[in-house]
Amino acid sequence: MNPYVKDFFHLSFPRYCAGCEKPLYFTEKALCVHCLLALPRARMHHERENAIEKLFWGKANVEMATAFLRMSRKGMAHRLIHELKYDGNKAVGVQLGKLFGAELSRAPEWKNIDLIVPVPLHPLKELERGYNQSAMIAMGMSDTMRVKWRAHALKRNVHTASQTRRSRWERWQNVNDIFSLDREIFNKTSHCLLVDDVITTGATIEACVNAVHQHFECKISVASLARPVR
Ligand SMILES: [Zn+2]
Repeated sequence: MNPYVKDFFHLSFPRYCAGCEKPLYFTEKALCVHCLLALPRARMHHERENAIEKLFWGKANVEMATAFLRMSRKGMAHRLIHELKYDGNKAVGVQLGKLFGAELSRAPEWKNIDLIVPVPLHPLKELERGYNQSAMIAMGMSDTMRVKWRAHALKRNVHTASQTRRSRWERWQNVNDIFSLDREIFNKTSHCLLVDDVITTGATIEACVNAVHQHFECKISVASLARPVR
């Protein structure tokens, strides 16, 4: 687009930074350059046996796990996740996904991923929100990692029961009911990256991983945009 036309649009329909709410310059996407530099990066993707990997020990066979941002209660990551999930700001998910993907693509151990799949939302929830926030992150990561992503390789069935109140054995039996897989996609996959927005207990991801591993032997790694910290 002609730069003058861009300027005109920018003046007529200003956009605001999801981090600091100041107006964005037209070349900036969802975040201004100051907020990009101030992102509270977790920098844990080189660290094996990190706190996120430990969440799955004895519960699910996860190859590697990492998070991009440290999320404190009133910090920037918290604001950004809120924008993504509750304020309809899809662009912030895509932009952060791109940055996250760029970080992982520079690390040799993350290079053999051949499929990116977002953790699915309950279909009614997705309908209500209009999009799956994890899919926005996956889309951005796919772009900078140059790996294909499939929005619905994993689907959450409508009759989802609460995970948290079940015993581990019940959860194990239940994973086939909760998720359905696109077998054609997983058949051709050797290392899948599961993408989520925030990881706390890891119960949903545990169920996803076990649902896939009941039918397929592919490696599964986990990337969460944010990780709560105190
Ligand atoms: Zn900003």
